[in-house]
Amino acid sequence: MKEERSHMLDLLRFNKGFSSPEEWVDYGIQHNFKRVRADKLDACPDCSSRSSRSVGQFIYYSTLVRLQLCIDCGLIFADTRIDSQVIQSHFENAYKDEHYFLRRRRRVFDQLACLISRAAPRGGRVLDVGGAKGHLLAVLQQQRPDLGLVLNDLSTEACNHAAECYGFEVIPGDVNALERVTTRFDVVVMSDVVYYEPDLKKLWALLPRLLAPGGSIIIRMPNKLSLIKGWQLFLRFSGREKMCMQKRIRFFNPEHLYVLSRSYLTNRFKKAGFSQIRFLPSELLVQEQENIRYPLFYSVAKAVSLISLGAIVLTPSYVVIASASETTVAND
Ligand SMILES: [Zn+2]
Repeated sequence: MKEERSHMLDLLRFNKGFSSPEEWVDYGIQHNFKRVRADKLDACPDCSSRSSRSVGQFIYYSTLVRLQLCIDCGLIFADTRIDSQVIQSHFENAYKDEHYFLRRRRRVFDQLACLISRAAPRGGRVLDVGGAKGHLLAVLQQQRPDLGLVLNDLSTEACNHAAECYGFEVIPGDVNALERVTTRFDVVVMSDVVYYEPDLKKLWALLPRLLAPGGSIIIRMPNKLSLIKGWQLFLRFSGREKMCMQKRIRFFNPEHLYVLSRSYLTNRFKKAGFSQIRFLPSELLVQEQENIRYPLFYSVAKAVSLISLGAIVLTPSYVVIASASETTVAND
């Protein structure tokens, strides 16, 4: 027993984030903590500012990660990067199956395809960044056979599937692979992927270069910051849990590297030279036990967004559409 505790204490001293390892020994033993390599970020991964404050903390892969708000640019970021091999095997095991893409995301794909279709000119080119096996582009292809569709994904297997099944042009790889692309696109779509990009600064610098004049970027992402802040406030004042022993942040997915607020995105798009930025409610995932409440809630959210001129988005995810000017987009 004593040996087990001493072993756990050593492990907690090695793993990142535990400034008072003694307090976590029991929890570590109960949850079978493993030795995990990780890197702490000492600055904001976007603007490099060292000025930030804590939003909350959570345990992920036996590591204590803090969610930090950058005082200068407003980015909310996880301050620890778990070893890339651990994360890679996590995603290989967690990769969503065909059923998930085809059934649960049906409405999301329909909405995004509709928005892309509206933004893309006849014969235009569309790039889906992190487009997995190409299900979104396949829906778009049905609506707009005139468009040139290009898919990018980290997974070579997913890219091969998209090329073989639908005949899309594919770019396997990360943001560095996209940097080598010389052609431009009328629409770049990133559906539920931006929060996985480790090199956010590089992505922001790249996006304007990928776009043709007058082109649009369409991003889908979670809209849960108010819930996260509300819950953290409740925890702080209710005394339910000591903040220094917090193990999870409700409404936040620990896989995500960032929470991108509206104000952060608006400022970032403006800085990158985009003139028009719109926030829309996003369609909901189809539930296993589907009933009328879901489509009804979405209709109410759309009406509220319309009445508030886009200021209020009630859905758990939102879509951001940023349009470049007809002339050119400034590089970062
Ligand atoms: Zn920053």
